[in-house]
Order: sequence, then structure tokens, then C-alpha cells
Amino acid sequence: MESIKAPRGTRDILGDESWKWARVLEVSRGVAADFGYREVMLPIFEHTELFSRGIGDTTDVVEKEMYTFTDKGGRSITLRPELTASMMRSYLEHDMNRAAQPAKLWSWGPMFRYERPQKGRYRQFSQIDFETLGSPSPLADVETIDASMELFRRLGLSNLQVLINSVGCPECRPVYRETLKKFFSDRINDLCETCQGRFERNPLRILDCKKPGCRDLTGLAPSVTDSLCGECGAHFDAVTSGLSRIGVSVSVDNRLVRGLDYYTKTAYEILAGELGSQNAVCGGGRYDNLAEAIGGPHVPGVGFASGIDRIIITMEGQGACVGDEPKTDIFVIAAAPDAEIDAAALAHELRASGLSADMDFMGRSLKARMKQASQCGALYACIIGPDEKSSGSVAIKDMRSGEQETLPMSSAAARLSLAIGERAR
Ligand code: AMP
Repeated sequence: MESIKAPRGTRDILGDESWKWARVLEVSRGVAADFGYREVMLPIFEHTELFSRGIGDTTDVVEKEMYTFTDKGGRSITLRPELTASMMRSYLEHDMNRAAQPAKLWSWGPMFRYERPQKGRYRQFSQIDFETLGSPSPLADVETIDASMELFRRLGLSNLQVLINSVGCPECRPVYRETLKKFFSDRINDLCETCQGRFERNPLRILDCKKPGCRDLTGLAPSVTDSLCGECGAHFDAVTSGLSRIGVSVSVDNRLVRGLDYYTKTAYEILAGELGSQNAVCGGGRYDNLAEAIGGPHVPGVGFASGIDRIIITMEGQGACVGDEPKTDIFVIAAAPDAEIDAAALAHELRASGLSADMDFMGRSLKARMKQASQCGALYACIIGPDEKSSGSVAIKDMRSGEQETLPMSSAAARLSLAIGERAR
């Protein structure tokens, strides 16, 4: 029988990578605390309608990429492809709009999209998501971008490029839509098949197309900035000047769109060269009409989602891994057949006193156990041989210097805590 493998587009995050994930999350938690975002934990599946209304029927995500199924109660359920719609649903469901505004919320976890897998693009991937709900202020936009850049700074990432645009609002976007349609109407045959379909339904999304023929054309298309209404123009200026004031340099990219009515004003993306074609580590923007699209009142909002898988690929590519994989402090070795249980009891005591300790219980030789101690990076080996066993003591070997001393078993934990504490200082 053929062995069962993980489904295409999913992967196991093994020990030599998973500690980096823990580190990214620890740093994210620190940034969230420093910027005043509170963590919310959201369900991994939601009613399909939340995404079809919240992300929009004409997006690739909703049209082609969702993992949707009917549950045993006959409901249409979708594994979440993103977090913003869920966050807004949660905000509305828990009446957070009645408390002081804005609500600054963050979350993280796995997302699911049926995409063609490649480096940096998976069918199950994880995002860190920060959202500021309830404020129309451009300072909220600036703060979310600042938070994402601070996260990347603390993770040691460099050479990131921030692209920013405004997609206008329901006042000015129809005007731009018409301008664009007029521009593409004479050139429709030069567009790819998908974009020909977008021409009627959602011409703004043509700007997003990565196919060379379409890109040649979109490079010549009229810019959205020229069609913005007074309010959207002023908002965009306030966001870009706010970012310049805090030293975040951005490039304006008029082809960056979120071509749906719920997305308003600011759209941004942060790119890292190390990622190849899937080069976005972060995507964000404002969505002042999302709450209404999912049946709520008017709630302005802005936020970003950053892919953890891609953050780690970038960290590795830039040699920016912060810290090291946590090591075991002490390796306990029974060097006499009847000392195994003493070794287990000592390991237990060491762990209870706040140290990390490991031991072998596969019956390996003394030599193999010493090798194991150095392989796991232990600072000290605690050896219980026949002499130590009979005198109730333990030999403590400093793995770096090779020095060894023998202590009563009862004082080993206190002595090692002290020694390891001193090393850490
Ligand atoms: P989006 O929700 O599409 O705006 O994506 C936000 C961020 O999530 C992107 O900038 C990526 O870092 C990450 N991301 C999106 N799709 C995937 C995927 N299929 N695999 C890995 N990361 C992804």
C-alpha cells in the first residue's frame, strides 16, 4: 500500500523551523502590546456568506480558491481564506462599536486557499493580522503600516519595499472605473482572457494582472490619483506625509488595487526581494464599507495581514534569524545500570527548579550518551556512575571547559541553577 503524504499545498513545520515560528509570534505579541492591539482568537471556519459578501464575489479568492463544504446540518461552511471579514464579524457580534473607538485587534493562525502551490504560496498558510476598527483617521492607516514595519524591524528584516495607493471611495471610484473602461475599450483584444472578463465586471482588477501583455497596457493606463475626490485625496496625502514624518519611505504604485466596493482609500503591500514571484510579505488597506457589506452599520476600518511562511523564508534568505533554537541546559546520564531511575529523578528535579533537562532512556552506552549531551547543546552533563550511585552524589561536567566536580545529589539543582543563571547574565 502506498504511504499517505500530506495534501498538496500543505506541509509539516518540523522542529528546525517551528522554533522560528514561535519567535515570530513572540515578537508579534510584543509589537501588539506596544501598539495597544488586543488578541482575539477567531474560528477557523465561518459561514460561507461572510466571505462571499465580505471579500466579494468577483475576487479570485471567492470565485476559485475557497475550501467550501456543506456540514452535516446542511450549512455552507468555508475554511477561512483570510481574517479581516472574521474580525469585523466578531467586532459586530460582540457590540465592540459601543465601546470607546477604535477597537485595535490582532490575531493569527492558518488560512486556506486553493491556489497553485509554489515557493511561498501554499494552500494552508498562516497570517498575522492587525486591524483598527472604528476610526476613519489617516493616522490609523499610518499606525498599522508603522506596526507592520516595526514587526519586520524587530525580526531583523531589511530591504523591504512599501508600495502604496488609494483606491478611492464609492463617490470617486465610479468615475475612475469609467475612465479606465474608456481606456481599455479600444485595447480590449490586447488583454488576456481573464482580464477581458474583468473589463465589464471589475475593470480595476485588470490593473492587478501580472501577465506581461496586460502589464504593458496597465503601465499606460490613467492613474487613480487623478480621479480621487477631495476627501480621498486629502486622506492619501495625510497618510503619505504621516509615513514620511515617521521615516517610513514608500513608493506610490497606482496599479495596486483592491478592486471591490468595500475597500476604500489606502491600499498597500510590503515586498521582499528574497521571495521570488510570491514577493509580498504583507498586504493591507482600508475597508470603510466592509461592515455594511456583511450586514452591519457603518464602521471604518484599516489593517494588514502578513504571511508567517513568507516572513520566515525572508528571514532565512537574509540571514536574519533572531536568536537560536532553544537548547537543553543539562543532559543527565546514568553510567551504571541501576542508576537509570536516579537519572530520571534528577531530571525531574532539575525541570521542577526551572532548568531544561533531558536524558536517554534507550539504553545507550556512556560514550553515546556523552555524544548526545554535546549534540543537544547542553551546558552541563550530570553523570551518575557506580561511585556516585553508592555515595548519593552526582558528577557535574561543564561541557565547554571539560571541568568536572562531584556534588551531593541534593544540592545539584541549586548549584546548576546558580551556574546557568550566571552564564545567562
Ligand atoms: P492577502 O490576504 O491576499 O492580502 O495576503 C496577505 C499576505 O498573506 C500576503 O502578503 C502573503 O504574505 C500572505 N499570503 C497570501 N496568500 C498566501 C499563500 N497562498 N501562501 C503563503 N502566504 C500567503
